[in-house]
Amino acid sequence: MDIDWRRNNSLNNFFFNCPSCNLDSHVIVEDFLDKKLQKILNVKAEKLNHAINKGIIKFFQFHGTPALQFKKDVIKIEAGTVIYFKEKIEVIRGFPKIRRTLMLSPTLKNHFKDKIIAEEKMNGYNVRIALVGDEIVALTRRGYMCPYTTKKAVEIMDLEDFFNDNPDLVICGEMVGTDNPYVSHYYEEIGSLGFRIFDIRKKLSNDPLSIKDKQEILEKYGLPAVRVLGIYSVDEAPDKIKKEIKEIGKAGREGMVLKDPEMIIHPLKYTSSEAHADELKYAFTYPFDFGRDFLFSRVIREGFQAFENEENEKELQKRAHQLGESILYPMIDTIKNVDSGNPASEDMIIDIEKEEDTEAFMRHLHDLGVYAVLLKIKGKKAVVRRIHQSTTDKINNFLKGGLY
Ligand code: ATP
Ligand code: MG
Repeated sequence: MDIDWRRNNSLNNFFFNCPSCNLDSHVIVEDFLDKKLQKILNVKAEKLNHAINKGIIKFFQFHGTPALQFKKDVIKIEAGTVIYFKEKIEVIRGFPKIRRTLMLSPTLKNHFKDKIIAEEKMNGYNVRIALVGDEIVALTRRGYMCPYTTKKAVEIMDLEDFFNDNPDLVICGEMVGTDNPYVSHYYEEIGSLGFRIFDIRKKLSNDPLSIKDKQEILEKYGLPAVRVLGIYSVDEAPDKIKKEIKEIGKAGREGMVLKDPEMIIHPLKYTSSEAHADELKYAFTYPFDFGRDFLFSRVIREGFQAFENEENEKELQKRAHQLGESILYPMIDTIKNVDSGNPASEDMIIDIEKEEDTEAFMRHLHDLGVYAVLLKIKGKKAVVRRIHQSTTDKINNFLKGGLY
């Protein structure tokens, strides 16, 4: 393998000095990856090597600790997996993708066994919280340690006892609320920022606890869980969920994740029409950044939901209006805005205690490749403006006469 970083002596030294690697000085890092890592992950060395060569597995340092991040799935190791080489090798697996059902019937009956637990699907961003050495870290979906999320998670929840007693468990949940730098959404019971836990998983294997075990452990440590909306038999589920999803939509909430009580069968997600419209509004406020990726899937969801609901002419018309308006109106607003000389941008609010918090967060955004500027700091809040460059540039070009 001819990877520069592995031939780089300082990085080799890094691994040699790593207490969990047990390398003697004549073994080079690739040997370690070949022999030890493939055993730990149960993935063949050649697959790991290939992924490293392709840049799918990346090397980085976390507070002086060597670490690996999986940018994409490698066999059954999910994207977002992070491995820290501390005294112990800590493997925090990526959060598994949740497939979507377009139809409730017959899909639920085919997919689940006898009972389905419907949890609320909260609209925020996915966070895994785990212990690395003696440090609590919060990882975002792709496996980045976000300084803001880490700080807020330990402020919002008292996690010490949980992790003292359960160092090998990972808390998976959604950071939600309006002062949320990634997905801002208002929930009346949450307000500016809150956390809701939906899974507890084991490090390395990624096995989830059953719903009952999860509820018990969250209750024991006083940690906040997502709401359970119902427990249904597979036969009654489609009708119940059809009704429930309408209520969820009316309340301006996102949807449901349907789960097997034992968490052996994979969960499925199902979302409200209003949530589809909201996502399209967002996407078409920045049409050249998100429009294409968002559109097809949301239209397909709307089509199947309308069909399954056997909607009448009036209901269909309402849905069609909502869909069309959520695409066209925000886009026209943005064209007007760019025409007035402004960039297509969104402002995110974060809670800060001291100036370093903002700096750390801005650095994190920069590392992620997000173009953002600090607009202002007012008391304990900072306003960060994220610029959507493609949308700004393309609209400017068309306004000046550029061809599509
Ligand atoms: P995916 O997670 O399927 O890759 P995605 O990143 O686009 O897709 P969503 O469409 O929002 O995410 O749906 C899945 C996400 O929903 C999960 O990753 C998790 O962050 C979030 N979520 C919110 N509530 C729950 C819940 N009760 N159970 C599981 N996940 C939940
Ligand atoms: Mg989401």
